Amino acid sequence: MTSPDSDLSNTSTKLKDVSLASQQLLERKKFQCVFQELKKRVEFGRTEEAASNQHKSDAIDDKLEQRSERQAELQKSHDTVLRDSEKKTSIKTPKVILDVENLPPCPCRTQCPECRQYIMTETFSSISSVTWLLCFITAGIGCMAGCCLLPFCIDQFKSITHRCPKCRTLITTIKRL
Ligand SMILES: [Zn+2]
Repeated sequence: MTSPDSDLSNTSTKLKDVSLASQQLLERKKFQCVFQELKKRVEFGRTEEAASNQHKSDAIDDKLEQRSERQAELQKSHDTVLRDSEKKTSIKTPKVILDVENLPPCPCRTQCPECRQYIMTETFSSISSVTWLLCFITAGIGCMAGCCLLPFCIDQFKSITHRCPKCRTLITTIKRL
């Protein structure tokens, strides 16, 4: 038979055990809480890191876009400069006109049909039948006070003759009207 004393001590031991167990559980719970908190913080850090990484990649994207824009601008200006320089070189080296019958009314580069050399032609204007015709027309209208002589002073009413500066050959004559 068990005495009440031993019963009491038994109960008190059990109570102690229970309280110890509950204390342990509390400790465990606390630890769990701390662990959770730590975990949360770590995760938060990670998300923050991810966010900052995202931000960085966004910044890089922006920079890339700016670079591509700048590149397009540079390409454009480069093309413009290239075109300009092409224009300039075309001005510096005028086209050689080989068809002597279609020379413009100004000095131009061509091949002399006589000496076969590539030359810059000399031009001079000369009185043509058109000049005389205009003279008679102005005289007929009534401009007798010297107005009929005007066509002789205006190069547009005269013929233009191209001459080779080396062999002095007359290459062609451009008649007006
Ligand atoms: Zn010549």
